Amino acid sequence: MKLIMFGAPGAGKGTQAAILSQRLGIPTISTGNILRAAVKNGTPVGLQARSYMDAGKLVPDQVIIGIIAERLAEADCQRGYILDGVPRTIGQAEALEQAKIQFDCVVDIEVPDQEILHRMIGRRACPICGATYHVEAAPPKVEGKCDHCGNTLTLREDDKPETVISRLAIYHAQTEPLKQFYTERGILKVVGFQPTLEATTQAVLDALGI
Ligand code: AMP
Repeated sequence: MKLIMFGAPGAGKGTQAAILSQRLGIPTISTGNILRAAVKNGTPVGLQARSYMDAGKLVPDQVIIGIIAERLAEADCQRGYILDGVPRTIGQAEALEQAKIQFDCVVDIEVPDQEILHRMIGRRACPICGATYHVEAAPPKVEGKCDHCGNTLTLREDDKPETVISRLAIYHAQTEPLKQFYTERGILKVVGFQPTLEATTQAVLDALGI
């Protein structure tokens, strides 16, 4: 099964991808996580990507296409995978097609902008292990500390309110046109906004027919 989790930043793609990944036994490939690791390790890709990421802008297509082609060629991807956060532009989707990378389904998780703002501004992340929390919806056991490694949680640079607003604008302008792109290919499945994480998971499973 080759899937794309699609939606605005903060729609819950990563959370749902993790659940599906366990259930289906296939890896999740998140370009956001790959880029954050590259920034942390100070690799050439990380150095190129950092200023775009901190400003909430998209990293140039060539960088993303390079990363994803390399990652999908690894052995654990041969049985399938779930893409989280990629493609994000028509250029990236076309590059995947040109590389003969095809998908069974694109799961579009619809969430209103107001809800996204609320979620992202309350989000806290562990700078060491990457675990994410929400001050109201999913707080850590000890306030401000990561449940897994005990480190102090931080507000990601790109989760700051002004950056979230700009990321949403970029999503609507550059990423949302992909809905039409994949509708034309007959593989877009829309999951309407659900009140809970569990209801969203059920709606995703229903959309996939599993
Ligand atoms: P994410 O964790 O998916 O929200 O990604 C965090 C940041 O990484 C984004 O705001 C972009 O700066 C960058 N990024 C991740 N995936 C992509 C992509 N497919 N295309 C362009 N930039 C990306």
